[in-house]
Amino acid sequence: MLKTDSRFSEFQQALHQNKTSCVERVQHHLSVIEEKSHLNVFLSVYGSEALKKAAEIDQKIKDGKAGKLAGLVVGLKDVFSHKDHPLQASSKILDGFIAQYNATIVERLLNEDAIIIGRQNCDEFAMGSSNENSAFGPTLNSVNESRVPGGSSGASAVAVAANMCQVSIGSDTGGSVRQPAAFCGVVGLKPTYSRISRYGLIAYGSSFDCVGIIAKNIYDIALVLEVIAGKDEMDSTVSQQAVPSYSTCLSKSEPKKYRVAFLNEAMQSEALQPAIKNALQNKVDQLTSAGHIVEGINFPLLEYALPTYYILATAEASSNLSRYDGVRFGYRSGNTEDLESLYKKTRAEGFGKEVQRRILLGTFVLSASYYDAYYIKAQKVRNLIRKKTKEIFEQYDFIIMPTTPTTAFKLWENSGDPIAMYLADLFSVHANVAGVPALSVPCGTDEEGLPIGLQIVANDFDETRLFQFSKVLMNFV
Ligand code: GLN
Repeated sequence: MLKTDSRFSEFQQALHQNKTSCVERVQHHLSVIEEKSHLNVFLSVYGSEALKKAAEIDQKIKDGKAGKLAGLVVGLKDVFSHKDHPLQASSKILDGFIAQYNATIVERLLNEDAIIIGRQNCDEFAMGSSNENSAFGPTLNSVNESRVPGGSSGASAVAVAANMCQVSIGSDTGGSVRQPAAFCGVVGLKPTYSRISRYGLIAYGSSFDCVGIIAKNIYDIALVLEVIAGKDEMDSTVSQQAVPSYSTCLSKSEPKKYRVAFLNEAMQSEALQPAIKNALQNKVDQLTSAGHIVEGINFPLLEYALPTYYILATAEASSNLSRYDGVRFGYRSGNTEDLESLYKKTRAEGFGKEVQRRILLGTFVLSASYYDAYYIKAQKVRNLIRKKTKEIFEQYDFIIMPTTPTTAFKLWENSGDPIAMYLADLFSVHANVAGVPALSVPCGTDEEGLPIGLQIVANDFDETRLFQFSKVLMNFV
């Protein structure tokens, strides 16, 4: 049995040499899931289905008919439509709901013979930074069980870190793939907005929502990205740009000297934990001594990224979540007199506290008297942030930043204080507001042994170079 830490390509090689099998691999992951069930990572485990699929793929490999992802064991955050399987966005309001069709990403993964092992816990409707806002209870961080795994794709990051699957697919609206990846010591990609189809992804903030990928290494992420990215007639917002063969480009990358910026506002932020600042400074020094040009630049708009995100994302959420009314999907309150009380009671009982807060906030910023002061203003700030970010990429190849201001905090430490919780997204929302791609890579640990994540932000559709540069960055020790 190969180490599950190794790259998927190594496992695939072993498969083709008959040294292991997909069935063996699935059995291994199932046993880890069972052994670590107290971490509360999976909401559903498709054990017998995954084993059956694995046996079919083992046969396909023998027949020389297997797809590109043959034997890749994948976990899905509970926000992707997977036909005939439960789908709840970790919310009571979708109790008993069964998906009617496959999300485009699910279809593409299955077409290439990936094996879906289960549905992963998350913050309700992907709103949160700790996985504590789930109707199914929190997920624990496998690195240190007294800590949160981050959110909202917290369980998806733990699943990869703890070897419950090879790759997880999450969603990143304001940092939900990168922040948990940083907290759990794994790699997380938020691609360019519109790179991957959102068809079949439960909508939160549609102008920010991105499908993201979590793995232990960039090679697996690159391979999965090239399978799931690209135009889709089911989502007209997806870019028509051709999808490069990211995995091939990655293995062929040439040594090159890059121009890299770091943001003085991030580096000097009072919220930044000293160990993370040191980790970033070390990378800056290592890059400089390796001959890359690394410069600190001023980006005073950084502090506006967070309020801009929380105004616009909640506005979009209040509209997107209006469909959960007790009539069409999932949960319906039993105790109602008329249509209006059915709507009200269903939504009051079905949505958790944080989701209700965001719907209220979003409705407020969209209301007639406050629309110009908040919503329109935030749209203008968003345009400005995007414009100024694009200007940085006229002079630099990448921006490097901490992924998060702190390492994983204690369970329930911030749950009573929404502002403290929102601050966990201080550095991650920038890429969502600007729409550009960003990758969080592990970068050592703090004095308590908790993982630190460093984020590389690139220009639109520059994922290939983003991967190539992350290789440079991670090669330093
Ligand atoms: N933590 C952020 C929030 O609560 C980001 C969520 C996300 O990316 N889905 O909104």
